[in-house]
Amino acid sequence: MSQLPEQASEKKSRMDQSFRDSVATIDKKGHRNYIFPKKPKGKLYNKRTLASIIYLIIFFGLPFIKIHGEPMFMINILKRKFILFGQIFGPQDFFIFALGMLTFMVFIILFTVVFGRVFCGWACPQTVFMEMVFRKIEYWIDGDYTKQRQLKEMPWNGYKIRKRVTKIAIFYLLSFIIANFFMAYLISMDEVLHYVREGISSHFGTFMALIGFSTVFFFVFYWFREQVCIVVCPYGRLQGVLLDKNSIVVAYDYVRGEPRGKLKKEATEKSGDCIDCAACVRVCPTGIDIRNGTQLECVNCTACIDSCDEIMESVKKPTGLIRFASESQVAKSEKPKINARIIAYSVVLLALVSALGFMLASRDDVDVTILRTSGSVYQTLPDGRIGNIYNAKLANKTHEDIPLTLKLENIKGEIEVIGKDILVQKEDYKNATFIIKVEPKEIKNRRTPINISIYQDNIKIRTVSTTFIGPME
Ligand code: SF4
Ligand code: SF4
Repeated sequence: MSQLPEQASEKKSRMDQSFRDSVATIDKKGHRNYIFPKKPKGKLYNKRTLASIIYLIIFFGLPFIKIHGEPMFMINILKRKFILFGQIFGPQDFFIFALGMLTFMVFIILFTVVFGRVFCGWACPQTVFMEMVFRKIEYWIDGDYTKQRQLKEMPWNGYKIRKRVTKIAIFYLLSFIIANFFMAYLISMDEVLHYVREGISSHFGTFMALIGFSTVFFFVFYWFREQVCIVVCPYGRLQGVLLDKNSIVVAYDYVRGEPRGKLKKEATEKSGDCIDCAACVRVCPTGIDIRNGTQLECVNCTACIDSCDEIMESVKKPTGLIRFASESQVAKSEKPKINARIIAYSVVLLALVSALGFMLASRDDVDVTILRTSGSVYQTLPDGRIGNIYNAKLANKTHEDIPLTLKLENIKGEIEVIGKDILVQKEDYKNATFIIKVEPKEIKNRRTPINISIYQDNIKIRTVSTTFIGPME
């Protein structure tokens, strides 16, 4: 069946994928095409503002919250000490950490398969700080997009220098504050404040590291901006394999919108709802035209939804020409489907969450490793008993000192701790050496399996199996 000219041209335009040959932020000569997005406004933008205020309160507030005198969250890589929700994790919890990371990644994948890249627009620190902090300050100093463009193009004069110096000073100060808070997540706020009190000269290396991070943040928020999402972020690069026709993304309803055309007084029956005003393109912080379809550059910030809704209201058409929807919903008006991939990811996620929950619930406050001292053999003691020397490595993951006692379980004998009693200080490690003394008649083989129980306040917290070496029969 032959196509009408309008249908043929519409199909041709939808088949035209040449926009994928380049990114909007780089011109034909390979130079940076700086984006000046129009200041967004609308219901979703208001919701994002509210969400980012809560986000920022949490980000800047958490380092001040303490549990048992320790930070609620701390990721001290140098000291290999991690605190999550007040629980202390150390290198011995590596498996929990690895499983936690794996669970998080599967969750992100599942979330992306179903809801697309909504995390990027609403919860990623890069977007929250860029769009909700630095961009707002930029609008306040330089004005909206047209004024920003004029400012860029105008020759250097007192006005431009004043604007630029103000912006650079505020951006750098903010970057410095953010770097300090990031450091507080690494070494605790108490430690940061302690460094501040002692002064730069006492912690010059740390201060230089802080300046380095501040400069990187400044570079990102002042100049690099959306390039982080487009060319650096690995999560962004994954979108191509994670999204499918049923993923909910920010989508242009081309069925309703095409054929697009300028608003005429008497619209023909065939004209679509898109009036080709480009308002959705003007607000896009990554400079793309969402009407070309889902693109890797789209961070799901929803600014184009607000913008198009405003236009639709002004031309008395239903809102939602650009909305959260899947390709299937747009093309066939289908409801979101649960496909085999979602089910498979969900099963894996459930299994991982269960395993992680079990590992966390069964995690001990004290970690114990007991090994016979390497290279040692048995000794015949003056009282005729046989002795073996052992080393114990103990890790206290609580906020209190823990005194421990050791008892033999399956063999008669005595444990003599060398030095003082075993007291493991809070959040600390301890090495202890002890001798196990056993009557010769108890030893039947060269290697006798023995169980040593560890008691805290007369409560058995752990039993460790090892071997006792005795003389050959
Ligand atoms: S296309 Fe829309 S949702 Fe995507 S980044 Fe641009 S403005 Fe944000
Ligand atoms: S804002 Fe809406 S009407 Fe205007 S060009 Fe974009 S999709 Fe079309």
